[in-house]
Amino acid sequence: MSDFWKRADSQEAVFRGREARSLPTFDELADQNVLVPGGFMEHFECEECGLGHVEEVVWLRTPGAARRAYIHCPEVGRVELDLQDLMIWAIDLRAISAMVAKGMRFGRSPVEEIPQRVWFLGSARLGGRTRDVFLIRGAGWSDGVEMLSNCRRLAAAKAPLVLVPDQLPSDPLWLSEGRSFRSLSSHYWFSDGAKEAARELVEVLRADDDFRLASENHVFKSDGSTWRIVYDGQSANFRPLKGFEHLRQLLKSPHLPIEALLLASPDAANALKIQASGIPVSDPESQRWLGSRLAEMREELAELDMRQSARKLELEAQIPILEKHIRDAENHSGQIRKVKGSAESARLSVTNAISRSTVAIRKALPALADHLEKSIRTGVQCMYTPSESINWDT
Ligand SMILES: [Zn+2]
Repeated sequence: MSDFWKRADSQEAVFRGREARSLPTFDELADQNVLVPGGFMEHFECEECGLGHVEEVVWLRTPGAARRAYIHCPEVGRVELDLQDLMIWAIDLRAISAMVAKGMRFGRSPVEEIPQRVWFLGSARLGGRTRDVFLIRGAGWSDGVEMLSNCRRLAAAKAPLVLVPDQLPSDPLWLSEGRSFRSLSSHYWFSDGAKEAARELVEVLRADDDFRLASENHVFKSDGSTWRIVYDGQSANFRPLKGFEHLRQLLKSPHLPIEALLLASPDAANALKIQASGIPVSDPESQRWLGSRLAEMREELAELDMRQSARKLELEAQIPILEKHIRDAENHSGQIRKVKGSAESARLSVTNAISRSTVAIRKALPALADHLEKSIRTGVQCMYTPSESINWDT
Protein backbone atom coordinates (compact mmCIF):
# COMPACT_ATOMS: atom_id res chain seq x y z
CA MET A 1 0.00 0.00 0.00
CA SER A 2 2.95 2.38 0.36
CA ASP A 3 2.81 3.23 -3.38
CA PHE A 4 -0.82 4.13 -2.98
CA TRP A 5 -0.20 6.53 -0.07
CA LYS A 6 2.83 8.11 -1.73
CA ARG A 7 0.72 8.82 -4.77
CA ALA A 8 -2.15 10.17 -2.66
CA ASP A 9 0.25 12.73 -1.19
CA SER A 10 1.72 13.75 -4.57
CA GLN A 11 0.61 16.65 -6.74
CA GLU A 12 -1.01 14.39 -9.29
CA ALA A 13 -2.92 11.86 -7.23
CA VAL A 14 -3.82 9.50 -10.06
CA PHE A 15 -2.97 6.03 -11.33
CA ARG A 16 -2.94 5.41 -15.07
CA GLY A 17 -4.21 2.33 -16.85
CA ARG A 18 -2.48 -0.86 -15.85
CA GLU A 19 -0.69 0.94 -13.03
CA ALA A 20 -4.05 1.16 -11.21
CA ARG A 21 -5.02 -2.41 -11.96
CA SER A 22 -1.71 -3.71 -10.67
CA LEU A 23 -2.49 -2.37 -7.21
CA PRO A 24 -3.19 -5.49 -5.13
CA THR A 25 -6.26 -3.84 -3.60
CA PHE A 26 -7.56 -2.24 -6.80
CA ASP A 27 -11.02 -3.85 -6.68
CA GLU A 28 -11.57 -2.84 -3.06
CA LEU A 29 -10.40 0.72 -3.65
CA ALA A 30 -12.69 1.07 -6.68
CA ASP A 31 -15.63 -0.50 -4.78
CA GLN A 32 -15.23 2.00 -1.98
CA ASN A 33 -14.89 4.93 -4.40
CA VAL A 34 -11.41 5.70 -3.13
CA LEU A 35 -10.30 5.28 -6.74
CA VAL A 36 -12.69 6.96 -9.17
CA PRO A 37 -12.58 7.07 -12.97
CA GLY A 38 -10.96 10.31 -14.04
CA GLY A 39 -10.97 10.10 -17.84
CA PHE A 40 -8.75 8.40 -20.40
CA MET A 41 -5.11 8.75 -21.34
CA GLU A 42 -4.49 10.80 -24.49
CA HIS A 43 -1.33 8.97 -25.54
CA PHE A 44 -0.33 5.33 -25.54
CA GLU A 45 2.82 3.36 -26.30
CA CYS A 46 2.56 0.88 -29.12
CA GLU A 47 3.06 -2.73 -28.01
CA GLU A 48 2.63 -4.36 -31.39
CA CYS A 49 5.82 -3.61 -33.30
CA GLY A 50 8.43 -3.56 -30.56
CA LEU A 51 9.58 -0.01 -31.43
CA GLY A 52 7.98 1.45 -28.32
CA HIS A 53 6.70 4.58 -30.05
CA VAL A 54 4.09 6.72 -28.33
CA GLU A 55 1.05 7.80 -30.34
CA GLU A 56 -2.02 9.92 -29.82
CA VAL A 57 -5.15 7.92 -29.00
CA VAL A 58 -7.87 8.15 -31.68
CA TRP A 59 -11.51 7.46 -30.80
CA LEU A 60 -14.00 5.87 -33.15
CA ARG A 61 -17.67 6.30 -32.50
CA THR A 62 -20.06 4.14 -34.45
CA PRO A 63 -23.76 4.81 -33.77
CA GLY A 64 -25.32 1.93 -31.85
CA ALA A 65 -21.94 0.40 -30.85
CA ALA A 66 -19.57 1.02 -27.95
CA ARG A 67 -16.82 3.48 -28.71
CA ARG A 68 -13.38 2.12 -29.49
CA ALA A 69 -9.87 3.52 -29.16
CA TYR A 70 -6.91 3.10 -31.49
CA ILE A 71 -3.40 4.26 -32.08
CA HIS A 72 -1.75 4.30 -35.47
CA CYS A 73 1.42 2.20 -35.89
CA PRO A 74 3.58 2.79 -39.00
CA GLU A 75 4.48 -0.91 -39.03
CA VAL A 76 1.22 -2.70 -38.40
CA GLY A 77 -1.35 0.02 -39.03
CA ARG A 78 -4.30 0.49 -36.71
CA VAL A 79 -3.84 -0.96 -33.20
CA GLU A 80 -6.99 -1.31 -31.11
CA LEU A 81 -6.61 -0.59 -27.40
CA ASP A 82 -8.33 -2.07 -24.36
CA LEU A 83 -10.29 0.77 -22.71
CA GLN A 84 -9.30 -0.51 -19.28
CA ASP A 85 -5.65 0.11 -20.19
CA LEU A 86 -6.48 3.75 -20.99
CA MET A 87 -8.43 4.57 -17.84
CA ILE A 88 -7.09 7.16 -15.45
CA TRP A 89 -8.06 6.57 -11.82
CA ALA A 90 -8.04 9.50 -9.41
CA ILE A 91 -7.50 9.03 -5.68
CA ASP A 92 -10.45 10.65 -3.92
CA LEU A 93 -9.11 12.08 -0.67
CA ARG A 94 -12.65 13.09 0.28
CA ALA A 95 -13.69 9.44 0.29
CA ILE A 96 -10.61 8.60 2.36
CA SER A 97 -11.39 11.34 4.88
CA ALA A 98 -14.96 10.02 5.17
CA MET A 99 -13.64 6.50 5.71
CA VAL A 100 -11.23 7.64 8.42
CA ALA A 101 -13.93 9.76 10.11
CA LYS A 102 -16.22 6.74 10.15
CA GLY A 103 -13.46 4.54 11.58
CA MET A 104 -12.99 7.08 14.34
CA ARG A 105 -16.76 7.12 14.93
CA PHE A 106 -17.18 10.85 14.37
CA GLY A 107 -20.71 10.25 13.08
CA ARG A 108 -20.59 13.20 10.69
CA SER A 109 -19.20 14.01 7.28
CA PRO A 110 -15.81 15.67 7.09
CA VAL A 111 -15.72 19.38 6.27
CA GLU A 112 -13.49 20.30 3.35
CA GLU A 113 -11.67 23.35 4.70
CA ILE A 114 -9.35 23.90 1.72
CA PRO A 115 -10.38 22.19 -1.52
CA GLN A 116 -8.40 19.01 -2.08
CA ARG A 117 -5.98 19.88 0.74
CA VAL A 118 -7.51 20.13 4.23
CA TRP A 119 -10.43 18.26 5.78
CA PHE A 120 -11.73 18.67 9.31
CA LEU A 121 -12.92 15.25 10.47
CA GLY A 122 -14.28 16.05 13.93
CA SER A 123 -13.31 16.39 17.58
CA ALA A 124 -12.93 13.64 20.13
CA ARG A 125 -11.23 12.77 23.35
CA LEU A 126 -8.10 11.03 22.09
CA GLY A 127 -5.01 9.97 23.98
CA GLY A 128 -6.03 11.82 27.14
CA ARG A 129 -7.18 15.15 25.71
CA THR A 130 -9.83 16.60 23.43
CA ARG A 131 -8.45 17.14 19.97
CA ASP A 132 -9.59 18.32 16.59
CA VAL A 133 -8.67 15.83 13.90
CA PHE A 134 -7.63 16.93 10.40
CA LEU A 135 -6.57 15.18 7.25
CA ILE A 136 -4.22 17.23 5.10
CA ARG A 137 -2.60 16.57 1.76
CA GLY A 138 0.63 18.10 0.48
CA ALA A 139 1.99 19.29 3.84
CA GLY A 140 5.47 18.91 2.38
CA TRP A 141 4.74 20.74 -0.89
CA SER A 142 6.34 24.13 -1.43
CA ASP A 143 3.08 25.83 -0.42
CA GLY A 144 2.48 23.35 2.42
CA VAL A 145 2.83 25.66 5.42
CA GLU A 146 0.60 28.24 3.72
CA MET A 147 -2.28 25.96 4.65
CA LEU A 148 -1.71 27.13 8.22
CA SER A 149 -2.42 30.74 7.32
CA ASN A 150 -5.23 29.79 4.92
CA CYS A 151 -7.12 27.52 7.29
CA ARG A 152 -8.09 29.30 10.48
CA ARG A 153 -9.56 26.18 12.07
CA LEU A 154 -6.30 24.26 11.57
CA ALA A 155 -4.12 27.15 12.76
CA ALA A 156 -6.21 27.75 15.87
CA ALA A 157 -6.65 24.12 16.93
CA LYS A 158 -4.97 23.28 20.25
CA ALA A 159 -2.80 20.15 20.02
CA PRO A 160 -4.76 18.71 17.08
CA LEU A 161 -4.21 15.31 15.54
CA VAL A 162 -3.16 15.84 11.93
CA LEU A 163 -3.31 12.90 9.56
CA VAL A 164 -1.26 12.88 6.37
CA PRO A 165 -1.35 10.28 3.59
CA ASP A 166 2.36 9.56 3.52
CA GLN A 167 5.36 11.46 4.91
CA LEU A 168 5.17 13.52 8.10
CA PRO A 169 6.07 17.18 7.47
CA SER A 170 9.47 18.37 8.66
CA ASP A 171 8.95 22.13 8.63
CA PRO A 172 9.26 23.42 12.24
CA LEU A 173 6.14 25.56 11.71
CA TRP A 174 4.08 22.40 11.41
CA LEU A 175 5.64 20.88 14.49
CA SER A 176 4.72 23.73 16.86
CA GLU A 177 1.46 24.21 18.82
CA GLY A 178 1.52 20.66 20.13
CA ARG A 179 0.32 19.18 16.83
CA SER A 180 0.56 15.40 16.63
CA PHE A 181 1.09 13.94 13.18
CA ARG A 182 0.31 10.41 12.05
CA SER A 183 0.70 8.89 8.63
CA LEU A 184 -2.37 7.08 7.27
CA SER A 185 0.06 4.71 5.57
CA SER A 186 0.94 3.18 8.95
CA HIS A 187 -2.49 1.55 9.22
CA TYR A 188 -4.87 -0.38 6.99
CA TRP A 189 -8.07 1.65 6.50
CA PHE A 190 -9.83 -0.19 3.70
CA SER A 191 -12.56 -2.83 3.65
CA ASP A 192 -13.55 -3.33 7.26
CA GLY A 193 -10.19 -2.14 8.54
CA ALA A 194 -11.04 1.47 9.42
CA LYS A 195 -12.16 0.85 13.01
CA GLU A 196 -9.15 -1.30 13.78
CA ALA A 197 -6.85 1.26 12.12
CA ALA A 198 -8.41 4.06 14.19
CA ARG A 199 -7.99 2.00 17.36
CA GLU A 200 -4.27 1.44 16.62
CA LEU A 201 -3.82 5.10 15.86
CA VAL A 202 -5.38 6.21 19.15
CA GLU A 203 -3.19 3.75 21.01
CA VAL A 204 -0.03 5.24 19.51
CA LEU A 205 -1.31 8.70 20.35
CA ARG A 206 -1.88 7.67 23.95
CA ALA A 207 1.69 6.35 24.19
CA ASP A 208 2.99 9.66 22.77
CA ASP A 209 0.93 11.57 25.34
CA ASP A 210 2.20 9.39 28.19
CA PHE A 211 5.72 10.17 27.06
CA ARG A 212 4.96 13.88 26.93
CA LEU A 213 3.27 13.72 30.33
CA ALA A 214 6.28 11.89 31.74
CA SER A 215 8.47 14.81 30.72
CA GLU A 216 6.03 17.21 32.41
CA ASN A 217 6.73 15.15 35.55
CA HIS A 218 10.48 15.79 35.27
CA VAL A 219 11.43 19.38 34.59
CA PHE A 220 14.75 21.15 35.15
CA LYS A 221 14.70 24.56 33.49
CA SER A 222 15.16 28.24 34.06
CA ASP A 223 13.38 31.30 32.69
CA GLY A 224 16.45 33.39 33.53
CA SER A 225 15.42 34.50 37.01
CA THR A 226 13.80 31.36 38.47
CA TRP A 227 14.50 27.66 38.17
CA ARG A 228 11.44 25.45 37.94
CA ILE A 229 12.31 21.95 39.03
CA VAL A 230 9.89 19.02 39.00
CA TYR A 231 10.71 15.48 40.08
CA ASP A 232 8.11 12.71 39.97
CA GLY A 233 5.41 15.35 39.74
CA GLN A 234 6.62 17.27 42.85
CA SER A 235 7.61 20.79 41.91
CA ALA A 236 9.47 23.72 43.44
CA ASN A 237 10.96 27.02 42.31
CA PHE A 238 14.51 28.08 43.13
CA ARG A 239 16.56 31.19 42.72
CA PRO A 240 19.55 30.70 40.42
CA LEU A 241 22.59 28.76 41.64
CA LYS A 242 25.65 28.09 39.56
CA GLY A 243 25.33 24.34 40.06
CA PHE A 244 21.83 24.22 38.53
CA GLU A 245 23.24 24.94 35.10
CA HIS A 246 25.84 22.15 35.55
CA LEU A 247 23.07 19.78 36.61
CA ARG A 248 20.90 20.76 33.66
CA GLN A 249 23.76 19.96 31.25
CA LEU A 250 24.26 16.57 32.89
CA LEU A 251 20.54 15.66 32.97
CA LYS A 252 20.36 16.48 29.27
CA SER A 253 22.93 13.84 28.35
CA PRO A 254 22.54 10.81 30.58
CA HIS A 255 25.38 8.26 30.57
CA LEU A 256 27.67 10.66 28.76
CA PRO A 257 30.86 11.81 30.51
CA ILE A 258 31.21 15.59 30.33
CA GLU A 259 34.45 17.39 31.19
CA ALA A 260 34.19 19.53 34.32
CA LEU A 261 36.13 22.10 32.29
CA LEU A 262 33.29 22.25 29.84
CA LEU A 263 30.68 22.61 32.57
CA ALA A 264 32.68 25.26 34.43
CA SER A 265 33.42 27.54 31.53
CA PRO A 266 31.09 30.50 31.43
CA ASP A 267 31.75 30.67 27.72
CA ALA A 268 30.51 27.50 26.08
CA ALA A 269 32.24 28.22 22.76
CA ASN A 270 35.62 28.48 24.47
CA ALA A 271 34.94 25.39 26.47
CA LEU A 272 34.11 23.46 23.34
CA LYS A 273 37.42 24.57 21.89
CA ILE A 274 39.24 23.25 24.94
CA GLN A 275 37.39 19.97 24.65
CA ALA A 276 38.15 19.75 20.95
CA SER A 277 41.81 20.77 21.05
CA GLY A 278 43.16 18.31 23.59
CA ILE A 279 42.66 14.64 24.16
CA PRO A 280 40.21 14.29 27.04
CA VAL A 281 41.95 14.29 30.39
CA SER A 282 41.07 11.92 33.14
CA ASP A 283 42.20 10.74 36.54
CA PRO A 284 42.73 7.08 37.51
CA GLU A 285 39.66 7.04 39.74
CA SER A 286 37.40 8.37 36.97
CA GLN A 287 38.81 5.86 34.50
CA ARG A 288 38.11 2.97 36.87
CA TRP A 289 34.62 4.26 37.50
CA LEU A 290 33.92 4.74 33.78
CA GLY A 291 35.25 1.24 33.14
CA SER A 292 32.83 -0.27 35.61
CA ARG A 293 29.92 1.76 34.19
CA LEU A 294 30.84 0.47 30.76
CA ALA A 295 30.79 -3.11 32.03
CA GLU A 296 27.36 -2.55 33.63
CA MET A 297 25.96 -1.07 30.46
CA ARG A 298 27.25 -3.96 28.35
CA GLU A 299 25.74 -6.40 30.81
CA GLU A 300 22.40 -4.59 30.74
CA LEU A 301 22.42 -4.57 26.95
CA ALA A 302 23.05 -8.32 26.85
CA GLU A 303 20.11 -8.94 29.16
CA LEU A 304 17.55 -6.71 27.46
CA ASP A 305 14.70 -8.46 25.74
CA MET A 306 13.11 -7.52 22.43
CA ARG A 307 10.41 -5.34 23.93
CA GLN A 308 12.84 -2.89 25.46
CA SER A 309 13.94 -1.56 22.10
CA ALA A 310 14.14 2.10 23.19
CA ARG A 311 16.57 1.30 25.98
CA LYS A 312 18.49 -0.97 23.62
CA LEU A 313 18.97 1.84 21.10
CA GLU A 314 20.00 4.17 23.90
CA LEU A 315 22.66 1.76 25.16
CA GLU A 316 23.89 0.91 21.69
CA ALA A 317 24.47 4.62 21.09
CA GLN A 318 26.09 5.30 24.46
CA ILE A 319 28.46 2.34 24.77
CA PRO A 320 30.70 3.31 21.81
CA ILE A 321 30.89 6.91 23.09
CA LEU A 322 32.02 5.71 26.47
CA GLU A 323 34.48 3.24 24.94
CA LYS A 324 36.02 5.98 22.82
CA HIS A 325 36.19 8.29 25.80
CA ILE A 326 38.07 5.74 27.90
CA ARG A 327 40.39 4.97 24.98
CA ASP A 328 41.12 8.62 24.23
CA ALA A 329 41.96 9.40 27.83
CA GLU A 330 44.83 6.94 27.75
CA ASN A 331 47.96 7.65 25.77
CA HIS A 332 49.70 5.09 23.59
CA SER A 333 51.42 3.33 26.45
CA GLY A 334 48.12 2.96 28.25
CA GLN A 335 49.02 5.57 30.87
CA ILE A 336 46.42 8.07 31.87
CA ARG A 337 47.34 11.58 30.85
CA LYS A 338 48.22 14.00 33.56
CA VAL A 339 45.44 16.19 34.85
CA LYS A 340 46.25 19.77 34.00
CA GLY A 341 45.87 22.60 36.47
CA SER A 342 42.82 24.11 34.79
CA ALA A 343 41.08 20.73 34.75
CA GLU A 344 41.74 20.28 38.45
CA SER A 345 40.35 23.68 39.36
CA ALA A 346 37.30 23.05 37.15
CA ARG A 347 36.79 19.76 38.96
CA LEU A 348 36.78 21.50 42.34
CA SER A 349 34.53 24.34 41.26
CA VAL A 350 31.95 22.09 39.58
CA THR A 351 31.95 19.57 42.43
CA ASN A 352 31.33 22.33 44.98
CA ALA A 353 28.66 24.03 42.90
CA ILE A 354 26.77 20.78 42.39
CA SER A 355 26.92 19.83 46.03
CA ARG A 356 25.66 23.29 47.12
CA SER A 357 22.79 22.94 44.62
CA THR A 358 21.92 19.49 45.91
CA VAL A 359 21.73 20.88 49.46
CA ALA A 360 19.32 23.59 48.25
CA ILE A 361 17.22 21.04 46.36
CA ARG A 362 17.03 18.77 49.40
CA LYS A 363 15.05 21.39 51.34
CA ALA A 364 12.14 21.31 48.87
CA LEU A 365 12.56 18.09 46.90
CA PRO A 366 14.34 15.49 49.06
CA ALA A 367 13.54 12.63 46.68
CA LEU A 368 15.30 14.48 43.86
CA ALA A 369 18.33 15.22 46.07
CA ASP A 370 18.58 11.47 46.81
CA HIS A 371 18.26 10.69 43.13
CA LEU A 372 21.01 13.17 42.19
CA GLU A 373 23.39 11.91 44.89
CA LYS A 374 22.90 8.38 43.67
CA SER A 375 23.20 9.05 39.96
CA ILE A 376 25.52 11.99 39.47
CA ARG A 377 29.21 11.45 39.56
CA THR A 378 31.49 14.49 39.78
CA GLY A 379 35.21 14.58 38.98
CA VAL A 380 37.41 15.72 36.13
CA GLN A 381 34.61 14.13 34.17
CA CYS A 382 31.05 14.36 35.37
CA MET A 383 28.26 12.07 34.39
CA TYR A 384 24.59 11.45 35.07
CA THR A 385 23.76 7.74 35.13
CA PRO A 386 20.21 7.15 36.37
CA SER A 387 19.36 3.49 36.94
CA GLU A 388 16.26 3.91 34.80
CA SER A 389 15.90 6.44 32.02
CA ILE A 390 14.00 9.61 32.88
CA ASN A 391 12.76 11.90 30.16
CA TRP A 392 13.82 15.29 31.54
CA ASP A 393 12.37 18.47 30.13
CA THR A 394 15.38 20.79 30.25
ZN1 LIG B 1 4.01 0.23 -33.38
